[in-house]
Formats: sequence, C-alpha cells, structure tokens
Amino acid sequence: MPDYQVAETGYFIKDDEIEAALAAGARADAVKIREILAKARELHGLSLEDVAALTGITDPELRQELFAAARYVKEHIYGSRIVLFAPLYISNRCCNECLYCAFRASNRELVRRELNHQQIVREVEKMLDLGHKRVLMVAGESYSGKNIEYVLDSIAAIYEAKSRGSSIRRVNVNIAPLDVEQLREVKAAKIGTLQVFQETYHRGVYRAVHKGGPKRNYDYRVTVMDRAMKAGIDDVGIGPLFGLADWRFEVLATMQHIRHLEEHFGVGPHTISMPRIEPACGSDLAANPPNAVSDDDFRKIVAIFRCAVPYTGLILSTRETPAMRHELIELGISQISGGSRTNPGGYAEGEGVDEQEAQFHLGDERSLEDVIRDLIRMKHIPSFCTGCYRMGRTGQDFMDLAKPGAIQMHCDPNGLSTFMEYLMDYAHEDTREAGLKLVEEKLAAMPEKRRAVAQRLVDKVREGQRDVYV
Ligand code: SAM
Ligand code: SF4
Repeated sequence: MPDYQVAETGYFIKDDEIEAALAAGARADAVKIREILAKARELHGLSLEDVAALTGITDPELRQELFAAARYVKEHIYGSRIVLFAPLYISNRCCNECLYCAFRASNRELVRRELNHQQIVREVEKMLDLGHKRVLMVAGESYSGKNIEYVLDSIAAIYEAKSRGSSIRRVNVNIAPLDVEQLREVKAAKIGTLQVFQETYHRGVYRAVHKGGPKRNYDYRVTVMDRAMKAGIDDVGIGPLFGLADWRFEVLATMQHIRHLEEHFGVGPHTISMPRIEPACGSDLAANPPNAVSDDDFRKIVAIFRCAVPYTGLILSTRETPAMRHELIELGISQISGGSRTNPGGYAEGEGVDEQEAQFHLGDERSLEDVIRDLIRMKHIPSFCTGCYRMGRTGQDFMDLAKPGAIQMHCDPNGLSTFMEYLMDYAHEDTREAGLKLVEEKLAAMPEKRRAVAQRLVDKVREGQRDVYV
C-alpha cells in the first residue's frame, strides 16, 4: 500500500478560487453553457470553472438543456438501475452540538438509545426479512466509554445476523471522523463505503452551527478521507448538508474536495450524498435553514453533479418526498434508501418512526416494497448488488472498469439477479408479476453478450441459487 502524505488542514478548500469561479461563471453566455453541456455528454466530467458556469443558469431553456444532458449521462452510465439500501441507526447518543441535528448532546426532547450487540442482530433480522442486503450503519458520536470497539462490534453484529437463509452483504458506515489507526480497524471489519459528510465547507458557517464537541474541528473532519486513503480505505463517500451555506459554494467546494482526493490518491469519492436539512426534533435551525435550497435549485444541483462527476454514485435518502425522488432519479441519482427508520430500534419495533428518538423527519415513509413497486412502474431495476465490493473492485480498480464502460457487464447482470432474488423471496404476488415482466423486458433490450451473462444469473436464481454475481 502506498505511504500517502495526509493533509492536516483543509487548505484545498479555497474560498477565493470559488468566489472567482462563480464570478466568471455568472458571465458565461448561452454559447459557453452549450459548449459545457456538449462536453458533459462526452462523459469525461467537468472542471470547477465549468461547474461554476452551470450553477449560474437561470434561463428556462438552458435549464432544460442541462437536465437533458444529465439524463443522457445517467442513462449512458447507469442505465435504469437504482441501488437500494437502508440506514441502520445504532445509537442516537452524541457529544456534539450540531444545531441542525436532533441527536445533539443538549437536546433534552430526545429519548436516548444505544443498541447493544443482540439488539442490532434483531434489528438486522427484521431488515433481512424485508429483503435488504445493503446497510448503512449510522451513529451519533458517543459510545458509552467503549469508543471504537462499539463501532467494530456493531459492524460484526450486522454481518452476523441471519434470517431466511440470507445475511447483509455490505455494511457502509456513516460515523464521526477517526484517526488512521482506528480507520485501519474499521477497514479490517470489512466495511463497504466510509461516509463522512462535511455538512458545510464554509468555515464561518461551520463554526456557527457546530457549537460544541470534537466536531467543531473543521480541519480534522475535512481531512478524514485523506486518513481513510492512508488506512487503505479507497471507497469513500462525501457530501454537504444542503441548507447551511449557499448551495453554489457547497457544490464548488465539493468539486475542490474531489480534485484534492484525485490528485493525491488517484481516486475520488465513490459516492456523493446530497441531504437537504429536514425538520428535526428540538431544532429551530432545521425548521428554518439559513440557506434553504428550493426544489428547483435542488434539481439543478443533482443535474450539475451528474454532468460533473459521471462515474460517482449520487445518493438520495428518504429525506425527500416520493414525487421529488422520481424526478431526481431521472436527473442522476443512482442510489436511494427505502423503507428507512432513523430511530435506533425502529425496524424491530415495526410501524412508523418514533419522532422522539429519530434523527429527522422522513419525507418518504413508504415501505421498501412500495418503493420497489414504484421503481418497477418507472421501468427502473431495483438493484441490491454488492458484487464490486465483494470482488475487490473498489477505488482505482472500479474506475478502471467504469470509465471505458466495461462495468456494465457486471452491473446489469448483477442488478437483475439481485432484483430477481427480491421478487422470488420477498415480493407479494402482484409485485412479483410486474417485476418478472420487467426483467424479461430488460433482458430483451440488452446487447447480446451482456444478455447471455444476465440470463445465466437470472436462471440460476429462478432455480433456487442465491448470491450469484459476476
Ligand atoms: N454523527 C456522525 C456525524 O455527524 O458525522 C454521523 C452520523 S450523522 C447522524 C449523519 C448525517 O446526518 C450528518 O452528517 C448530517 O449531514 C445528517 N443530518 C443531521 N441532521 C440532519 C437533518 N436535520 N436533516 C437532514 N440530515 C441531517
Ligand atoms: Fe451528533 Fe452527527 Fe447529529 Fe452532529 S450530526 S449531533 S455529530 S449525530
């Protein structure tokens, strides 16, 4: 493993460069914008300056052209697959004071809960019964004096759980930033993606909304992915929390973060998440975000990222409403959560989210099956694929396959085989019927070689084999 130099400060987030790019971008005329959109369709991504120009689009015609370019990129790289996952909140205890979050230490309205090993196993059994295969483990930053051991034990508990012959195949984690040694331990626990959101890249706003606790340290947080790379974790997920600082600033700063990772480690983030602040128990700031992003601007943000970083997965959570999720999937989202609970113990407890224990209010409270039915109606293939991670195709290896388009030979067949598993093992009759029809349609539309591989996997699942992938 290369001995990387790790940044200790966020020097790579350069406000003056962002301001200059935004000012230049605002002067871009229609000819320039169309040039950039033509470049986006070449699928090689866009520069910071290009992105700045796209953020300045106000003309309705150009906005439609931006959306058309984003749809083109989405279709060419991701086809109609949508990866599904579910968050698993293991603890809402936290020592930080993030003004937007219900879990912040001083919030007396929240009922605190930290799941132990057995409770996590039970929670995961329930998730498995719904058909989930990919989990995003989420925790506040406080582990009853057990520190990192609690995180490691929780990951082990998730992998240990079994139900109806199945187990979770990939555990992504969204936890507080760690040091290199701790990250090595987390890597050894076999995580998929390490997610840490910067929340805001704007130092002034960051300081104003993080009132206490270790999270006040902007530099330690913004450099966590450098430490992850040093620790051998090359599958990382970043993202701003939209609503804190101006969205244009956040989009450009995210581009600077990506550029930094690419320049220093040869690979950018595997995913970008794009949460918008949702109302949260006991949080005035979450009820009235200082820079709330409108639906119109949010569509633009998704489309711009899709054009700018075509091979980076874009993640949307159940924070958004079903109607908004439909539109954003068309514009570039490649992963969504479904049937989520944001309160620890929420799956085992069944119906509804307990707002007194939850992190934020859900925009989409539908069950996983309802989400899947909807995707089928939209002719999307719900995918639970974990093939790349389990074959070690991460970081540079993933990009080497993704950029020339060779990854489709894996994603399409694996997406269909995991969807087939869902239909055979978990779906109700009407969902199964509609799903099987869609599988046939998708197979028929595939190029010959890919179809042969996909058909083979689908047949295996039909005959009773599980967990087959290429
Ligand atoms: N405690 C860890 C941390 O802050 O990095 C990880 C878990 S934290 C619960 C996960 C993410 O939830 C945060 O990074 C933040 O972006 C998001 N979040 C917090 N409050 C939110 C709200 N009111 N609406 C939407 N997302 C929120
Ligand atoms: Fe704690 Fe994370 Fe919520 Fe901040 S965002 S209060 S660190 S759980």
